[in-house]
Amino acid sequence: MKTIALKPLASRTVVRTTCPYCGVGCGIRVEHHPDGPRVSGDPLHPANRGRLCSKGSALAETIGTEDRLLYPEVDGRRVNWASAISTVADRFAQTIAAHGPDSVAFYLSGQLLTEDYYVANKLMKGFLGSANIDTNSRLCMASSVAGHRRAFGADVVPGSYEDLDQADLIVLVGSNLAWCHPVLYQRIEAALEADPSRRLVVIDPRRTRSTERATLHLPIQVDGDVALFNGLLLDLAAHDMLDRNYVEQYTVGLDAALREAARGEGQWPVAATGLTRSQLESFYQLFRAHKRVVTIYSQGVNQSTQGTNKVNAIINCHLATGRIGRPGTGPFSVTGQPNAMGGREVGGLANLLAAHLDLDSPTDRDLVARFWSASAMVQQPGLKAVDMFEAVANGRIKAIWIMSTNPVDSMPDADRVRRALQDCPFVVVSDIVRNADTVALADVLLPSTGWGEKDGTVTNSERCISRQRAFATAPGQARPDWWQMAAVGRQLGHTAAFDYPSVDVIFREHAALSGLENNGRRAFDISAMADLDANDYTALKPFYWPQPAGGRGEHRRFFAQGNFYTADRRARFVAVSAPSTTDRTTDPAFPLVLNTGRIRDHWHTMTRTGRSPRLNAHLAEPFAEMHPDDARAHGIEAADLVRVSNEHGAVLVRALLSERQQQGSIFVPMHWTDQTSGNARINGLITSRVDPVSGQPASKSMPVRMTRFDAAGFGFAVLRNRPPALDADYWAIARCTGGWRVEMAWSERIPPLDHLLTMLDLPGLAADGAAHYADRHRRINRYACQDEHHLLGALYLEATPVTVSRTWAAGLLAESALTAGALTQRALAARPGESQPDPGAIVCSCLSIGVNVITAEIRRGETSVNGLGARTGAGTNCGSCRAELQGLIDEHQTLANAA
Ligand code: SF4
Repeated sequence: MKTIALKPLASRTVVRTTCPYCGVGCGIRVEHHPDGPRVSGDPLHPANRGRLCSKGSALAETIGTEDRLLYPEVDGRRVNWASAISTVADRFAQTIAAHGPDSVAFYLSGQLLTEDYYVANKLMKGFLGSANIDTNSRLCMASSVAGHRRAFGADVVPGSYEDLDQADLIVLVGSNLAWCHPVLYQRIEAALEADPSRRLVVIDPRRTRSTERATLHLPIQVDGDVALFNGLLLDLAAHDMLDRNYVEQYTVGLDAALREAARGEGQWPVAATGLTRSQLESFYQLFRAHKRVVTIYSQGVNQSTQGTNKVNAIINCHLATGRIGRPGTGPFSVTGQPNAMGGREVGGLANLLAAHLDLDSPTDRDLVARFWSASAMVQQPGLKAVDMFEAVANGRIKAIWIMSTNPVDSMPDADRVRRALQDCPFVVVSDIVRNADTVALADVLLPSTGWGEKDGTVTNSERCISRQRAFATAPGQARPDWWQMAAVGRQLGHTAAFDYPSVDVIFREHAALSGLENNGRRAFDISAMADLDANDYTALKPFYWPQPAGGRGEHRRFFAQGNFYTADRRARFVAVSAPSTTDRTTDPAFPLVLNTGRIRDHWHTMTRTGRSPRLNAHLAEPFAEMHPDDARAHGIEAADLVRVSNEHGAVLVRALLSERQQQGSIFVPMHWTDQTSGNARINGLITSRVDPVSGQPASKSMPVRMTRFDAAGFGFAVLRNRPPALDADYWAIARCTGGWRVEMAWSERIPPLDHLLTMLDLPGLAADGAAHYADRHRRINRYACQDEHHLLGALYLEATPVTVSRTWAAGLLAESALTAGALTQRALAARPGESQPDPGAIVCSCLSIGVNVITAEIRRGETSVNGLGARTGAGTNCGSCRAELQGLIDEHQTLANAA
């Protein structure tokens, strides 16, 4: 892959920046070397203290210019920036003039920097006159925002990551932290190791890698969380464990919350949770026994029609026991995206105003209008993400600008979103890549700067604001998103309001607004930063909010002494009802519950992580993880292909059998798109059911059915070049070192060889000298060809799933041979020679250590993760695979005990 040209940096110059992926917000050091940038964890950053996970460690592999969008385009033709900007401005102005301000919309992303978000929010809410500005953060943490605002009167995460080091008990709810926020999980692991009396409870329908170190795993059934935490609240009251002083001084509403909790099953919600009474007792006892408790939660809580109630059920238990705002305590929402929190701070959601001001308050709207000198200040909330795309579908929204996100794949009802955008009169997309499913639908394409090229700030899950700094020049004519929006604002005549010569000016304005007429009324206040000059901004170190002007300038927790952001400064217990146990999400036609989510080494729709060979090595195909008993009941065997469907859509994915999956439910990851597989966009099956308070879609529980796909033939290929298009009933493609690996299957029959070779762009296989192996009895065909020293490609065709070791076969592309034909002969053998044992599926992607290597050491007697690291290297770099290593040790132990 080509590497982008770097800004001239003096040798040994280090740029400190932040990771662009999850909400942990790890600090990164980028060092310039002649062969490209080198990325490592920043030991000075408080979020990660030098650690990075597999995704962060592989960042340098993801920043090539390949597939980058380099120039503005209008209707498929390259134009200059002036033309593109005036096209966007004219069409938005014409649409508003003809149909009113609510006929236009912005759909943004938690990947944007705070300064991007600030300008977008200002342009839409202050100058276009609509609040139709929402973001993919709506899909991620809107229920947490709503829960915080209901309980605290403001969107505040009370504690910080330090609390994870200090807690005696950590309760992890609806979060596979080991895969989705690995550096935080490693911090918890370290705390558990430092003090073995500490405990971890994991509440999740699946037994994920996060359960490996858990004292207790509660395999709760879908949407049982409100009942579980209501039961805990009653149990705490029954055991006189409430902090009466805290409750009386700082809160209101406990009695109503207790009364509501006592309805239905009350303290022992066995039916609503699917847990046994003994499991419930164990959890309650642990919560009672440990004073320092942090409850961490993410999408398993948020992505539900009950999401906001779940958040408040959790917060209720912390308020009732005063376990908030003190070291080692608190409810803790972790955000999925790197700057979901920054977006919330600038009001980048349809129902928020900038700087934690209230969109429903005339006084607050007036304050912002004065500050911005707004010409068209919005007067009412806009459409949240799902409603926004519904309005695109029904024609109410006629012009939309999508930035840094891929809603055609990531929105629920994804096929309807695609059709809506196809029919929308005017679609603008700002992105960094050319090949993304949403980009294909744009009337105007605007090339944005990517990670490593852009400057600004982000806020992580613990309210820590850090700089993202450029260390590379932007390719082509790519420009920052804030620059694009400011240019449109000026083109529309708002010259003074959008006169931003550089990004630090935007930050200062944002900081100043946060302190305007604040006086402690609003939690978000960074007005101490409003006077930074450009040099200060360049050198800005990570800091926590609040930082009011003239304040103490130190990081602090919220709410140990009350001071909530409600009118009476008291927190609100929210009386929440557990959903009825008859509110099942399945029915006889669709008897399985589909759960969607992330995997360890990929991010969102893979536009960046998909570029990294080592990140693809861990899980290279879309899959459905299912319990072996469910597989048996459906006539499915390991490695079969399965069709997962409901009345909204269908996907075709590989079957992955696992005892970790709860019976009756399946898990399908969210990452695969039409760029990487033939039919695996799982959000096509998710409907637009949303939480009524937050508007967040219920992506964690969709009724589906599953059938075995009867394939007549299977194929696997390793190729030096990516084929232009793939024609198979099932296909999936992933980058590997030296080329690509492709999975295929056909329902009727395997196509003729010449058709396949044309499709795979492998004419060499038909030429003389190409090697061929056939076993007519077993209907196996293998083909391979090489040039003088390198394998050009190999194709494996079988009537049953191809059994060749993928890691080994893909590795042949990276090898060179001195003898003509040596590589083709090895490829045809379809298995490694004795001198080169098959490493098996990759577990440790940093060092490419396969499962066979690891299990061999376990069989030789190794019983610890650290010992495996010493013997094989696995888990010794980023540590993201340590939970899997522990799982392999445990599985071996279980088998040994059973034998
Ligand atoms: Fe990036 Fe991994 Fe840190 Fe998340 S945990 S910020 S993905 S390095």
